[in-house]
Amino acid sequence: MQSICSKCNQPAVYLRQYTSESLCKSCLVKTTVERVRRNINKSQMLKEDDRIVVGVSGGKDSATLLDTLFRIEKDFPQAELIPVLIDEGIEGYRDKGLETARQLTSSLGLELEIRTFKDLYGHTLDDIIRLRPADSNGACTYCGVLRRRALNTAALELEADVVATGHNMDDEAQTILMNVIRGDSQRIVRTNRPRDHSIKGFVPRVKPLSELSTRDTVVYAYHVGLPYHDIPCPYASEALRNDLRLFLNEMEHKRPGTLLAILHSGETMSEAMEHQEGVSDATVCESCGEPASSRLCKVCAILQEIEGW
Ligand code: SF4
Ligand SMILES: [Zn+2]
Ligand SMILES: [Zn+2]
Repeated sequence: MQSICSKCNQPAVYLRQYTSESLCKSCLVKTTVERVRRNINKSQMLKEDDRIVVGVSGGKDSATLLDTLFRIEKDFPQAELIPVLIDEGIEGYRDKGLETARQLTSSLGLELEIRTFKDLYGHTLDDIIRLRPADSNGACTYCGVLRRRALNTAALELEADVVATGHNMDDEAQTILMNVIRGDSQRIVRTNRPRDHSIKGFVPRVKPLSELSTRDTVVYAYHVGLPYHDIPCPYASEALRNDLRLFLNEMEHKRPGTLLAILHSGETMSEAMEHQEGVSDATVCESCGEPASSRLCKVCAILQEIEGW
């Protein structure tokens, strides 16, 4: 039997399990935008006249991010959205993402800024993976470090006030558990740092979708008809994140609300630890002068490993 929307009695297209809401298409769109708006307001992520760099990848999360922000920011004509795509150089994957990101941004009348690993670091991610030592980290460790820097560099160049990324509730819960498993409590603080505690040299980063699940973003992108691709990255299977994804999916299925509970635990932990001794802020990299947590920043450490300087 067709279920009925909890809000308006129209036929439902989606059951949001962790809020126990059945939603028709129109209420799905409305409540999704509203959840993003509330999350932004709760943590004061954005200001009325911000220049907002929006990290886009061609995938469903960043498509949902850009579309929901576009709707929310209509109420703030002084704000500006600047979509930026970081092209890591992953053949057969990022090129597809670039295509859909172009379709999405042009449908919204926004100009897409593109930065490439090749231009910034002299190597594509595919090159780096070929050159890395046999006993080295997984591809995602390199990719994550270099992409974060690339997005920050682009945001500085574009004189942005803030960078918005499409990390959703599943991503955030995985990250918190990954840091717990690695015993890296400092990173829990760093990744949950609110906008007003950002570090010099880093454009503050915000995650407006952190209270939407992966299912929410897929269903939103699908029903709104946003262009996105869902080809998996060829390196994704190397990540610890993948094991956690499977585990958390099972937990969320058995106990809806698990992801949200982990997210809130991460926020509480980082608030409690923020001012503790030993939670260090960044210093400066000896080689490139960018913020770093040790002698060399992580980008220079990667380039040194690959290039052997
Ligand atoms: S799965 Fe890993 S390598 Fe692929 S784009 Fe994501 S972080 Fe980069
Ligand atoms: Zn409805
Ligand atoms: Zn450096």
